[in-house]
Parts: sequence; C-alpha cells; structure tokens
Amino acid sequence: MQMMKPPPAQTRKTALSPLGTKARPIRNGVVPLRERRLSFGQKWDYAPALETVPVQIAPRYELFIGGRFVAPTSGKYFDSINPATEETLTEIALAGERDVDRAVKAARRAYDHVWSKMPGRERGKYLYRVARLIQEKSRELAVLETMDGGKPIRESRDIDLPLVAAHFFYHAGWADKLDYAFPGRRPRPLGVAAQIIPWNFPLLMAAWKIGPALACGNTVVLKPAETTSITALHLAQIFQQAELPNGVVNIVTGAGETGTALVNHPGVDKVAFTGSTEVGKQIAKAVAGTGKKLTLELGGKAANIIFDDAPLDQAIEGIIQGIYFNQGHVCCAGSRLLVQESILPAVVRKLRDRIRTLRVGNPLDKNTDVGAINSRAQLDKIRLLVECGTREGARLEQANCALPSRGYWFPPSFFTGVAMSSRVAQEEIFGPVLSVMTFRTPEEAFERANNTPYGLSAGVWTDKGSKIFKLANKLRAGVVWANTYNKFDPASPFGGYKESGFGREGGLHGLPAYVTLE
Ligand code: NDP
Repeated sequence: MQMMKPPPAQTRKTALSPLGTKARPIRNGVVPLRERRLSFGQKWDYAPALETVPVQIAPRYELFIGGRFVAPTSGKYFDSINPATEETLTEIALAGERDVDRAVKAARRAYDHVWSKMPGRERGKYLYRVARLIQEKSRELAVLETMDGGKPIRESRDIDLPLVAAHFFYHAGWADKLDYAFPGRRPRPLGVAAQIIPWNFPLLMAAWKIGPALACGNTVVLKPAETTSITALHLAQIFQQAELPNGVVNIVTGAGETGTALVNHPGVDKVAFTGSTEVGKQIAKAVAGTGKKLTLELGGKAANIIFDDAPLDQAIEGIIQGIYFNQGHVCCAGSRLLVQESILPAVVRKLRDRIRTLRVGNPLDKNTDVGAINSRAQLDKIRLLVECGTREGARLEQANCALPSRGYWFPPSFFTGVAMSSRVAQEEIFGPVLSVMTFRTPEEAFERANNTPYGLSAGVWTDKGSKIFKLANKLRAGVVWANTYNKFDPASPFGGYKESGFGREGGLHGLPAYVTLE
C-alpha cells in the first residue's frame, strides 16, 4: 500500500471520524450504526501490484483428441482475445463435425478398452495426480484464466484455482467408494459424456464436469466456450503429464455449432451443459427421445434477502460479493436485492458508498476488485438491459470510477425503484448490475423471491435462525446461503429448479448423473 501525502491536520481529523468527510449527526457522542459511512476520499491509495508470474501462451492451440494435440480437419482457427486489452492472445482450432466425430470415437475406444475396465482405486490415482499437478501449476493457470477471461487475478488465484484442485481431489476420493455412495446398488458408468461449459468459470466448470464423470468410470468430450478455451487446453497438457490414458478426456474447441454437433452425435451417452437457459432448452429438445442422459445448469436471478435485524455491514459485504464477484458473470449471482422496507435508505446509502471503493481495472493487478467484461457481445447485452431498466423507470446508480480506454468495461451499478415486472428484475443481466426492491413481511419476501422463472440460488440475512429455516424451506432455489453468499465447496451439491435446469453437480448428489444403478 502506498501512502499519499498526509492531509492537513483539520482534514485528517475529519477523515478519522467514522462519519467520513461530511459532518453527520452525533447523538450522545456516538454515531448511530446506520449513519456511519465509509469515506477514504483521496487520502490514500494502493500502489499497483501487478501479477508477474510469467506464462507461456502458444501462438496456436490445436484440438485434444486421443491424448494428442491435432489440427482440425477444417483447417480453421479463431482468435482468442484478452477482454481487458482487446489484444489477440492466440488462435484456437475450430472443430467441425468430423473432428467431433473423431473425439467421440476416441472417447468410446478409451471407455471400452481402458477406463470402464479399470478398478476405481486406479482411476482415483489418476485424478489425484491431476489434482496435484493443478496445484503445482495453479499460479500460472490463474494468470492464464485472468488474461483470457478478464476476471481479477485475486479471484482466479484465490477462488477458482483452489476450487478446481479441490474438485479433482474430492472426486478422486469417490472413485473407489461408489458402492458406498449407492448402498445395495451396483453403480455402472454411462459411457461417453459430452460436456459443454460456459466462459464465466472456464477451468472450474471443466473440473465440475470432468471430475465426477471420470470418477464414475465415464470418458469425456469437453467443449469449452469460444472466448475462454486456453486454460482447458493447458488442462489437457496436465492430463498428458499425468499420463491419463489416451482418449479418456478429449477437448474440442469452437462455437455453438461445435456444441450442437457434440450434443447430436449418436455416440454420446450423456450430455452435461452449463450456460444460458435458451441454449439449454435447445439441447433438451435435441436429446429428447434419444436415451441420452441429461443435466442442465442454466441461468438464475437470485434473490438476496436482507431483513431489518441483519448485521447490516456484513450484509452489505454479502451484497457486494453476491453481485460484483466475477463482474456479475455468475449464474447464482445475488442480482435481485430484496430489502426490508424500513432499512432501505440505510442499505442504499451504504451500498452507494461501498461501490465507490471498488477498484475496477487491470485484472492482473492484485488490488483489482472488478475486472473486464468477458466479451464485446456480453458488454452489449449488459448495456442494452441497463438502458431498458432506465427506460422502464428505475433509477440507476453507478460508481463514477475511471474506466480503461481499451477493453470491455462496465462500472459497478445498481437500480433502485425497480418494478417486479421490469426486465432488470426478471432477466439475467450477467453483469455487475443489481436490482434493488423491497418487502415488508417474511411472507412477502419469499413470494417476491420466488416470483421468477429461475430457481438456482438465494441468500437470507437475519440474526434469527428461525427466520432462516422458515425462508430456506419456502425458497424455490437449489442453493440457499444464510448470512453469507457465493460460497462453494466440492462436497456441496449445486443446481437449480424451474428454468435454472435440473440435476446436481458436486457432492454425493452429483454422482447419480454419471451412473446407472443396477
Ligand atoms: P451460451 O449458453 O450460448 O454458451 C454456453 C456454452 O454452450 C458455450 O460453450 C457455447 O459455445 C455453447 N453453445 C452455444 N450454442 C450452443 C448450441 N446450440 N448447442 C450446444 N452448445 C452451444 O451462453 P453465451 O456465452 O452465449 O451467453 C449468453 C447468455 O447466457 C449470457 O448473457 C448469460 O446471461 C447466460 N449465461 C449463463 C451462464 C450460466 O452459468 N448460467 C453461463 C454463460 C452464459 P460458445 O460460447 O463457444 O458459442
């Protein structure tokens, strides 16, 4: 931290006051809790702390099929862009139908001849090896993830990568204990799993998908998102180093057409998809009647519910973490804030103060809180929905931070005066934009929270355990966090209701998606 020039004595006195720079009422010498304000002004700042770990990005990445990196039959490649600078990082192979066919056949051979025949304890050893190699390379992978996707290095280093390793460790543990997971039944693998993942947590979603599939004895063809394929291909290098048998995991890169070819391939036994509800519906239609097993983890519009008895400053941190983590590119983001009416003014004031302290900018700077928006297309979508919110009468509040001149950026924002029926209250914005609404009673809170086509997650903030249990039972959401938000663990299942999809990932509950029970 770099200290700036000390302010004059008079100002310094005010700065040390919990009231901030502007005088506010003091009763009996004590500032009421809800009146206290954060105000750092220009008095101190952080020195830049750029991540310096060197990474190697190849000028070109090929497909990973049958344990080798191979050129696409089409001969086509597409650019991968750093969203913080708009610079081209590398070019990535574009897999067509023939490449997908090669990958599925390689996965089938590996399934028939090696992986399905291997005892669980041996499969587990490979998964442990992969997990340890991820830990060894985690800093480098975190930098790549940040450069390719725009998320702050603090998050990729301290959240994504530790969770990626944890998912492989966790599922390594299950590989030889499946009989205990399904007492009295004989779990059998399904065959070849087609797995399609989005761009918001590229490596983590790969780990969520590949870990349980391999632990249960299936082989995999993975399609990463077009804008974030680099780390999946570095993961492929780790599979090679771990000497994972050829064809157990195959990676085909490309856009939606590659995903469609994979979903429609007749050699696939299971489809696991994470992404938008729109594409999820198309996939559900495509696999209907084919006998392919399906899990869908789709969008969300989670309610983060703050009662008037909540510890307010912790709740504010939970709101910030809930919506601005990973630029709001989070399916379970707490994007609808439901505040008990009596505390609305205090919550809005504290939120306004807090978003001004968020540091938006270079994702490779360890001080950065909010990084770059993942792509131009996503930035356009956020802008469109924000314009729509303003047109529909909601009031927009934004941090007036300076944004870099190049790259894709959107300042931390929130809407007040939002009608339940408006688009910003109903649709997934998938950006750093919060919609603030109110409620009066617990009944109204859960009715409003459930008034959404989605059902992925929710948060409840109160100091009453009874209220938490009551709400958690009535909220139609796959995950409910109490007095915290956005906490993940491989042992804890994740998944949704309604248009948020079906099936669970993680924990014991995530295993049935990858087995048949005899
Ligand atoms: P998509 O659902 O389109 O992408 C998810 C994955 O599916 C990507 O790998 C994508 O490939 C692939 N895909 C796209 N079309 C098809 C298809 N027809 N068949 C099979 N696979 C397909 O999400 P987008 O990236 O387009 O984002 C659009 C919106 O979706 C976002 O604005 C956000 O609201 C939401 N979203 C939600 C996520 C969540 O976890 N809930 C995650 C990501 C997005 P490719 O990207 O290469 O085209």
